Amino acid sequence: MAAPYHHRYESDRDRVEKCVDVRSDGCWFWKLSTFKSGYGMVRVNKRNLLAHRFCWEAIVGPIPDGAVLCHRCDRKLCCNPQHLYVGTTQTNADDAIRARSLLGSRHPRARFTEAQVRAVRKEHARGGVTYLQLAERYGVSSGTIGALVRGQNWRHVGGALAPGTARFRGAGAPLAKLTEKAVRAIRESFERGERQVDLARKHDVTMATIGAVVRRKSWKHVA
Ligand SMILES: [Zn+2]
Repeated sequence: MAAPYHHRYESDRDRVEKCVDVRSDGCWFWKLSTFKSGYGMVRVNKRNLLAHRFCWEAIVGPIPDGAVLCHRCDRKLCCNPQHLYVGTTQTNADDAIRARSLLGSRHPRARFTEAQVRAVRKEHARGGVTYLQLAERYGVSSGTIGALVRGQNWRHVGGALAPGTARFRGAGAPLAKLTEKAVRAIRESFERGERQVDLARKHDVTMATIGAVVRRKSWKHVA
């Protein structure tokens, strides 16, 4: 008979270390049972949980209620938090984004490992990716990404810091400001049935900004 949990593992983090196979490509494959779906399975308090979620929570912290944890490496067995991100389903996108920004403001630093901070900076420095795209991938707000790449937090970690704010659109306010023309276009598209999440992406602003525009909470003077 297997020894009780607390005899085998010192902590959740210890359990992660003992139950994954760290591959040379960076993936951490779950070594124990799997669900029929192909995801790793871990038994905690007499319940079978998804191993990648367990590992994320052990290392990164709580997953917002209702949020889904997605694989960037497309390997269901992988439990490496750096290959995972808090994503959304289309139906709960609004809720999850709210939950993420809540979490981000409460635990702005706990969301990243030092290696992730360096990875974000490197990716941003290479160009071709917006704060919003990075924010969605890592499940944090665009503001958190902006502060991170400008070195306003996690300064001790190093990595490729944005070499001055001028190069980057918006600098202090990294996201594109809307114009009256854009506001009209957003409202028209929304009325035609375009989703707020797509509009946010297209205009490189947050869902909250789009929501305020379409509900006419902002830009009230624009007809
Ligand atoms: Zn992986």
